Amino acid sequence: MSLSKLAEFGTRHVARGIGRLMTEVIESGSGSYVTTTSGRKMLDFTCGIGVANLGHCHPAVTKAAQAQVGKIVHAQVNIAFQKPYLELVQSLIPLMPHKSLDTFFFWNSGSEAVEAAVKLARHATKKPNVIVMQGSYHGRTFGAMAMTRSKTIYGENYSPLMPGVFAVPFPYCAQCSIAKRSDGKYNAENCCMDPVEQLELLLKRETAPSDTAAIFIEPVLGEGGYVPVVPAYLKRVREICDKHNILLVVDEVQSGFGRTGKMFAIEHYDVVPDIMVIAKGIANGFPLSGIVSRKELMDKQPPGSMGGTYAGNAVSCAAGVAVVKAFEDEKILDNVSVRGKEMMDMLKGAKSDFPHVIHDVRGLGLMLAVEFAGGKGFGSKVQAKCLEKDLLILTTSIYDTLRFIPPLNISKEDMDKGCAIIRQAIEEVAA
Ligand code: PMP
Repeated sequence: MSLSKLAEFGTRHVARGIGRLMTEVIESGSGSYVTTTSGRKMLDFTCGIGVANLGHCHPAVTKAAQAQVGKIVHAQVNIAFQKPYLELVQSLIPLMPHKSLDTFFFWNSGSEAVEAAVKLARHATKKPNVIVMQGSYHGRTFGAMAMTRSKTIYGENYSPLMPGVFAVPFPYCAQCSIAKRSDGKYNAENCCMDPVEQLELLLKRETAPSDTAAIFIEPVLGEGGYVPVVPAYLKRVREICDKHNILLVVDEVQSGFGRTGKMFAIEHYDVVPDIMVIAKGIANGFPLSGIVSRKELMDKQPPGSMGGTYAGNAVSCAAGVAVVKAFEDEKILDNVSVRGKEMMDMLKGAKSDFPHVIHDVRGLGLMLAVEFAGGKGFGSKVQAKCLEKDLLILTTSIYDTLRFIPPLNISKEDMDKGCAIIRQAIEEVAA
């Protein structure tokens, strides 16, 4: 089939429900670049939505996966322990944000892992309901969809979803109407409603603490706009959980594995979760996810009640072990701090030069976003211009926001190149 017909074939025979950023077909990837079948080499600031964090086809990860393919691909976790599974647990334990998080369950996707956390929370507390944050994204399966509150399109016309999910506001200062009104302009220090009060009211009005198993939160709201949680809020949520015997679950699917400059975003906060959900960057593209919690909680689930055919696949786990090793060998977190600051400086510069175009810049490490002034579609225009200039970037949230998720090991040269393209695209749109 001719290359030009390939995309057409895909559009005809692949589910329309999958949205796509571009029509071109990707053939290969190396480091910070992907190459299309038409030979376009594109700088990738999406990393397959925060997955290929060490760049495409990272040599050590590829080698580890190839070696494992020659040993055993699939032994199945309900039959026996697989060696790479245990090696991965061994590698991950020292990286955990708290020593209490030492017992693991692996799955394939983020959605499945989120639901595994719901199962654990329900079983451990014997309570049915969960609370999530407005603007959160937890996935596309029925339970995870019920917990996803970032855009209505994810759940619209797919009901009934999992019952027993309640939502509270996530402190989102850039969209705080009272903060904007109080002095006529945006003021991050003056956040509008008291989100803690909203949570306390929810526990009085809608789901009693005795019915509430867990509160789920992304330390940095991902699909909801790359908004880092306000530290004081997270602390109060922890206190409320402790008071009512509710488990605190942090969804680190997007923010984990170095994305924010720490191994896990929760490390930016002085808070210990009861359960942590991990996925995406864990195996740099091989399907793998999981939950980690305290042994005493995990032990409440009887043998046989958890598992899954491909859960903790041996090749994915072998890739995961190589990912963890690469973080140390290549001092990935140091690079995130340096490159993250460079990119943030560029974004702040653009905001001060074009205040009529840019409303807010925010994020941690290399999980950065720019929110555009409302109503003009600036973000999509900037995104389209970047695409023309061979830079892949993504939007996020219901507000006009672009997010930047470059590889964590991106070189200075590639970061400078990407930043120059973004800056130029903003200038062109602002003109
Ligand atoms: N949680 C968060 C925070 C996510 O960002 C995502 C994916 N974007 C998910 C869960 C769902 O993961 P998956 O797409 O692998 O099911």
